[in-house]
This record gives sequence, C-alpha cells and structure tokens, in this order.
Amino acid sequence: MKYSQLFTKTLREPPKDADTINHKLLTKGGYVDQLMAGVYSYLPLGLRVLRNIERIVREEMDAIGGQEVLMGTLHPKEIWERSGGWDSIDVLFKIKSRTEREYALGQSAEEVVTPLVMQYVNSYKALPKAVYQIHWKYRDELRAKSGILRGREFLMKDMYSFHETQEDFDRFYEIVKKAYLKAFKRMGLVAKVTEASGGSFSQKISYEFMVLTDAGEDDILYCSACDFCVNTEIAKVAEGDDCPKCKDSKLQKARASEAGNVFDLGQKYGKAFDLGFIGKDGEKHFPIMGCFGIGISRNMGILVETHHDDRGIVWPESVAPYQVSLVGLNEKAEEVYEKLTNAGVEVLFDDREVNAGEKFADADLLGMPVRLVVGNKTGDQVEWKKRDSEISELIDLNEVLSRLNK
Ligand SMILES: [Zn+2]
Repeated sequence: MKYSQLFTKTLREPPKDADTINHKLLTKGGYVDQLMAGVYSYLPLGLRVLRNIERIVREEMDAIGGQEVLMGTLHPKEIWERSGGWDSIDVLFKIKSRTEREYALGQSAEEVVTPLVMQYVNSYKALPKAVYQIHWKYRDELRAKSGILRGREFLMKDMYSFHETQEDFDRFYEIVKKAYLKAFKRMGLVAKVTEASGGSFSQKISYEFMVLTDAGEDDILYCSACDFCVNTEIAKVAEGDDCPKCKDSKLQKARASEAGNVFDLGQKYGKAFDLGFIGKDGEKHFPIMGCFGIGISRNMGILVETHHDDRGIVWPESVAPYQVSLVGLNEKAEEVYEKLTNAGVEVLFDDREVNAGEKFADADLLGMPVRLVVGNKTGDQVEWKKRDSEISELIDLNEVLSRLNK
C-alpha cells in the first residue's frame, strides 16, 4: 500500500479527550476515529489489525471444534423477557420501533443461540456442541472511556457450548482455556487466568483471562512462581501474602484488563426456554451451557497499551497491519517496493513528498515490525531496522526477503 493513496493521515496531536494510550496512539496514527464516546470507526490500517486478531481467534476456535455462525444483533424483546435479562441487565440497549415494538441490541447472545442450537438437539447423542460468532455487541455504558478498551459498541467473539453433564463442561473448559492462552500468545499478549468466582447455575463470571496493563480496570493478585491469579474483587488473600497454591512466593498486585472470559451458565438458559434433550436414562434433561468471550476490539486496545514506547505503537508481527514500513527517500524505493510486494511482503510504502524526519516519525508512530529505508545513503542496499530495536544495518534486498521468510 502506498501511503500517498491512504485517505487517512497521521495527526500531530491526539484528540483532547483522549485519556488513554490506545485512544491517543490509535487516533494519532489514523487507525481509528471516534464517532462518539464508546463508538469508533475502524479505518484501513485499524481494520487490518482487527482482522488479524479475528483470524487468530477464529483459527483457534475452529481448531477445538467451534462452528462459526452469524446471528442477528437486533433481538426481539420477548427472548430477553424469557431469560429475565430485559429487566435485570442495566446495560442492555433497548430500542422502540415506530410500531411501538421493542427490541434489544445484543450484548450477548444466549437468548438467540439456545433455541437455535437446541432445535437440533433431541438426544444426548447430539451433544456436546459449540458454536461461535464474531460480531458487534452493545452495552449501554453510562460513561464509555479508555478508548477502544471499553466501548458501547465493540467487536467480540462469543462462543456457546452445550453439554450433557457438568463434567463434560469442565472437560471442555480445559480445552478452551488452552486455546485461549494460545490465541493470546499468538497475538503477543501474556494472559493470566483467574480462578472460579461463580459456580454453576449462576451468571457470575467463572474465569477471566487477564492481561497486565496499567490501563486495565481490574486489580489482580498473582504469583510469579506459579499460575495462581485472582481478581481482588473476590480475593480472600492480600498483597504480600504467601501464594496459597505453591507457597513458594508472595502475591503481587497489578492492574489488568480482561481480554477474555468464561461463564459457566449451568442449566439457566435451557430451563428459561424449556428446551431439553432426552438423556441416557430416557428422561428429559436441560443442557449445561458455557459462554466463552474474547473481546476482539478490546484486545486491539490492550495490544497498544502493552506494546508501545514514547514514539508510538510497536505491533507484534502477528497482528501488525503491514509487516514492513518502507521509507522511500529517492526514486529507487519504488523498485524495492515492487520487488517486496511481488514477493508477497505486506508493505506500507511511504512515498509521500515530505521530509525524511516526518517519514521516520510516522513509521515509529504506526509501529510496523520492520522499517526499511531506501535513499541515497543506502546505495544498492536497504537499511533494515526492527521497530523494537535501536540497531539498524545495511543489507541486500535478498537478505531482507529471507529475513521476512519470502
Ligand atoms: Zn504460587
């Protein structure tokens, strides 16, 4: 992509109301544009990041047998009355049509997916099943803040699983947990899992996948010697206490952001919709359900919060909108751009008629993993520099391609 063709431009200053790093850097870089508090437009560069995160999550959900669907976000009031959510969920967006009919905008989709899946499940033999979607969700937040970390409209992967028994849910949870940790790792995030705070038959959160960042809204206590981690909201231990699990280390406190979550829904939705299946004993049973979320747009925000320096964003390779920023300082750059593109490298080519300083500053702000420079000083070679390193070196184009695995 030639920078001169992009309709977006980097901004000199972040918007005045930007209160977090992700809001500042993503807006300055032209990745997103705030439509109103809590609602953003994803611009060409930002959409590529969002799609990369989405792709990683989709691959991991497909790998554990999740089946992708796309459900409506505009829901009839009746299904939310049936589950009790219409009156009890304060963040549920409610809409009245011109014919006075009422609707909800989905903040989750249990009310849609339960009847959808259960119409095909008559017997225990049809279980377990897991379906997921990657779709926009809505929450009527009183104050939307923290950039794309906490939106009124946000992109989320929500998977719903249906099980014959609690044991089968527990078995599946362990599989999803591994897939989640793998997905976060692939994105370049280190997530810690908090243990159960709610049990079956509750709508309380069961597990949270937390990423340490000062921009987070939760405080967690964790052990650096083992995987013990708990949200301070429900903790029965305090900072400095011995780790209750391994006893080898003291608990540390940190700010964290919830990158994913798991709800053990028990039989709540099967019962609410009176949708059961015939069990091995010939009797009617209600499915044990789980809801597994990963905030796609939120994770893009978390990535910026955890991967930046004072010059801008430092994208991990797996989610970067382009692998390479090519800073062109003479006419030779065009040729290098074509060679790279033909070899299958994703390049953002800064071909604008602006000074070198501005191009370097923008390359740092935008944060592609590799910066290449072609100019009079580089001769027949190309200057290679990784965004997260201060070392630059002159190498041949063939060496560039080999380093990029092309
Ligand atoms: Zn420990």
